[in-house]
Amino acid sequence: MYREKIDRFIDAHRNEMLEDIRALVAIDSARGPEKPGMPYGEGCVRALKEALHLGECYGFSVRNYDNYVGTIDLNEKESQLDILAHLDVVPGGDGWNVTTPFEPMEKGGRIYGRGTADDKGPAVAALYAMRAVRELGIPLKKNVRLILGTDEECGSGDIAYYYGIEKEAPMTFSPDAQYPVINLEKGLFQCNFSAEFAESTALPRMVSLESGTKVNVVPATAKAVFEGLKAGECQTLAKAMEAELGVRFEVTEEKGLVRIAALGENGHASTPWKGKNALTGLLSLIESLPLAECEQMKRVGALGRLMPHGDWYGKALGIAMEDAESGPLTITFSMLSVDGKGLKGAFDSRCPLCSNEENTLQAVKRTMAECGLCVHTDSMIPPHHVPGDSAFVKALLCAYECYTGQKGECLSLGGLTYVHELKNGVAFGASMPGTENHMHGPDEFAEISELLTSAKMFAQVIVTLCG
Ligand SMILES: [Zn+2]
Repeated sequence: MYREKIDRFIDAHRNEMLEDIRALVAIDSARGPEKPGMPYGEGCVRALKEALHLGECYGFSVRNYDNYVGTIDLNEKESQLDILAHLDVVPGGDGWNVTTPFEPMEKGGRIYGRGTADDKGPAVAALYAMRAVRELGIPLKKNVRLILGTDEECGSGDIAYYYGIEKEAPMTFSPDAQYPVINLEKGLFQCNFSAEFAESTALPRMVSLESGTKVNVVPATAKAVFEGLKAGECQTLAKAMEAELGVRFEVTEEKGLVRIAALGENGHASTPWKGKNALTGLLSLIESLPLAECEQMKRVGALGRLMPHGDWYGKALGIAMEDAESGPLTITFSMLSVDGKGLKGAFDSRCPLCSNEENTLQAVKRTMAECGLCVHTDSMIPPHHVPGDSAFVKALLCAYECYTGQKGECLSLGGLTYVHELKNGVAFGASMPGTENHMHGPDEFAEISELLTSAKMFAQVIVTLCG
C-alpha cells in the first residue's frame, strides 16, 4: 500500500543514489596487506568508513566492528531482517574500454566501474530502501540491519568475525548474486589426489605434464613434453581430434623433445560446460599417442578414463547423482602435474542435496584407490538450503513478481554465496536474469534501472517483513 510513495521517493533520489555509488566505487577496496587495525588493508577500511558516513548522514545509527564489518540500523527494535552486502572488490584488472576501474562513469543507462554490480551498487540500493522507509515515516515493528562486509571476495573472514559477536537475524538476504531468489547452493568437494611410481626409461614416453592454476577454474591451457615421439605424427593426430574436443593443439619439436600445448577456454568450475577444458582435452589426445607402457601412463590413463573430456556430471567416476531441487552433481578436472616419478592433481565438484560423504567422497576414494591414486581430502562443504515455501522466501518472490512482472522462482546455484553458512539466508538480486554485468571482468557495470527497481523492491520487502 506504500508502493506509490516508495516508487516516487526512489525515483526522486536517483541522482543522489548514483552519487553515493560513485563515491564508493572511486575507492579501490581490493584486499590489501593487513595493517594494525586494518584486517583487509587500507582500501577496505576507506570504503567502509565512507559507507558508514553515508548511513550517519541519513540519520541511521551505525557501528564499525573493528574494520571487519560495518552495520547500519533502521531502528532500535527487535532484530528481524539483515541485508548482507559487501564493499570489497576484486582487483581492477586490465582490458577496460568504457572507463577505468575506479573512475565510475554513467553511460547509456548504466553505471560502469569496479564494484558497481558487485556489490557496492546493490549495497547502496539497500541503503536507499532503508532511507525510503524511514523518510516516508512508514511504521515498522522490527529492525532491519544493513551489514557491510569487507572480505567477501577473499574468503568471508569478515562475516565469520561478525557472527562470532552477533546472532544471525531471523531472516537474511544478500543482494550479491541474481534475481529471483537463490535458496539452494550446492555443496563443495574439492578433491586432491596423488600417485607415485617407478620411473620408466622405455620410449616413447611422457616426460612431464602441467595444467591448471586454481582448483575452481576450468583450465584454459595444458602442456606436456614427450621423448621418442615424432612431431609430424602427433600433429596429424592432434589436428584430427581438435574439432571433436573443441580444444586447439600446438605441437613443436626441439632437441629431440616433442611439446604439445592444448588451448581451451577458462570458465568457473561450477559451470564446467561453459569452459573448454584443455586438461581433459590433452588427456584424450595422450590416450591415442603410441607411448610405451609404464606405471606413469597407467595412472595418467586411469585419470583420463575416470574424468573424461566432456563428462561434467561424474558418470565415469561413479558419482553422477541429482535431485529435483538442486539438479545434477557437476565435476571439473582442473589441476594436474606429472613427472617421471609421480603426479599430483585436483578436481572440483559441486554436490546436490542428495550427496554426502559416503556416496561422494568415500566413493571417489575407493574408485581412485583401485587405480593406484591416493585421495588426500577428508571433508566436503555441505550444501545450503532454505525452504522455498517459507514466508520469508515467498515475500521476496512476491516483491520480485510485483515489480518486474516476471515469474518469481527459486534457483539452485553451483557456487557458494555470502549466505552459505547462514541458517535462514538467501541471495536476492541484484542483477536481473539475462543481464551480463561483467562482474570480476573489465567494464563491470550495473543497469541503473535495475538498481532503482532493487531499491524499490527492498523497501517493499522491509515493509512486508518488518511492518
Ligand atoms: Zn560479490
